[in-house]
Amino acid sequence: MDKCSFCGRKRSEVKFLISGINGFICEECSVRAYEIVAEEETVQKEKNKFDFNKVKLKKPVEIKSFLDQYVIGQEHAKKVLSVAVYNHYKRLSVHGMPDDDDVEIDKSNIIMVGATGTGKTLLAKTIAKMLHVPFTIVDATVLTEAGYVGEDIESLLTRLLQAADYDVEKAEQGIVFIDEIDKIARKGDNPSITRDVSGEGVQQGLLKLLEGSVVNVPPKGGRKHPEQSMIPVNTKNILFIAGGAFDGIEKKIARRLNTQVVGFDKKSREKTDKDNFLQYITPQDLKSFGLIPEIIGRMPVLTHLNPLDRKALRAILTEPKNSIIKQYVKLFKIDGIELKIKDDVLEYIVDKAIEYKTGARGLRSICEVIMTDAMFELPSAKIKKFTVDLKYAKSKLEKADVQKLKTA
Ligand code: ADP
Repeated sequence: MDKCSFCGRKRSEVKFLISGINGFICEECSVRAYEIVAEEETVQKEKNKFDFNKVKLKKPVEIKSFLDQYVIGQEHAKKVLSVAVYNHYKRLSVHGMPDDDDVEIDKSNIIMVGATGTGKTLLAKTIAKMLHVPFTIVDATVLTEAGYVGEDIESLLTRLLQAADYDVEKAEQGIVFIDEIDKIARKGDNPSITRDVSGEGVQQGLLKLLEGSVVNVPPKGGRKHPEQSMIPVNTKNILFIAGGAFDGIEKKIARRLNTQVVGFDKKSREKTDKDNFLQYITPQDLKSFGLIPEIIGRMPVLTHLNPLDRKALRAILTEPKNSIIKQYVKLFKIDGIELKIKDDVLEYIVDKAIEYKTGARGLRSICEVIMTDAMFELPSAKIKKFTVDLKYAKSKLEKADVQKLKTA
């Protein structure tokens, strides 16, 4: 006789039975089953939620020492970022708690100014790694106002949603790194009469996100999927970190410093470090570069990155926790080969990176050229040890396409 396999009631005792391969389920039991599944899902979601009260928030000093493991130098940027991130998450942890005052902590979105390849992206990435929050990198140059060729501003949140596996709540506490923010600067100090597709319009669009609003985000991005239903995402607690090289801003800073009468007398002028004007950057300089004041106001934390000198480049090769050289050593170790790279080879790699003017970014491509043949041949060779000496390194690099390396 047909009966529900869960509660055992007969067909005559229930409204209806749904049949499966080896049994039946009645309408009441199926509703119950659904409720159990839904409840379990909520429990799981709660468990996965980033709970600020449970996670011990690292103090700025601890945040900085975490960054020290991955990023060489850039002391100022690391300090400023540590404080900004700490305050940001402190702000989140008091969010929603009963408060006896009306003080609301403002968001500390950050702008980092520094030449390419000095570690801006690396800093932002390392912070996201430490916090275990969704993180995405967006290139400001591809952003345009809605309706123009390119990506809508909202696509920036699409990527964050994807990084959060479409968990909206998680995405709403994530970090967005906007690279090349300088490329959306207004050209010239005067707002253009014609619509400035890549400049001010994009800045205005971006402003909406920075201010903290509910934005309807196309889950798959782009305009190729007009049928998709939008997901509302609140940007109030998303931390925005922007980076840019701001080519030529040094001149503006120098000019300002030279014409500044108050507080900048001859004596202090002599003290200025002329090789690194970026360290004197102020929001005013960003404005004269072409960022609109509203954007600057919404990104109140400003810091600079220093150019990487020889010593820093040499350190980058071997010191960070996952330095380029450590990665090669590990790759060879998996094949049972002990890799040694001689000191003069490391110096040579640094020399070449300086010669090609590719900075830290070039270090990896130079290493690749030197190591490719060895990585190709050695796993099949029956050796236990391999040492890269200067002669070997030079012979590999001399055969390489230098032009390609220079544009690395
Ligand atoms: P940016 O965003 O400033 O253009 P990146 O952070 O992308 O530069 O740096 C490119 C690469 O160079 C990084 O992946 C990293 O390997 C290396 N690098 C750059 N700066 C540093 C640094 N200060 N410390 C350690 N590695 C660095």
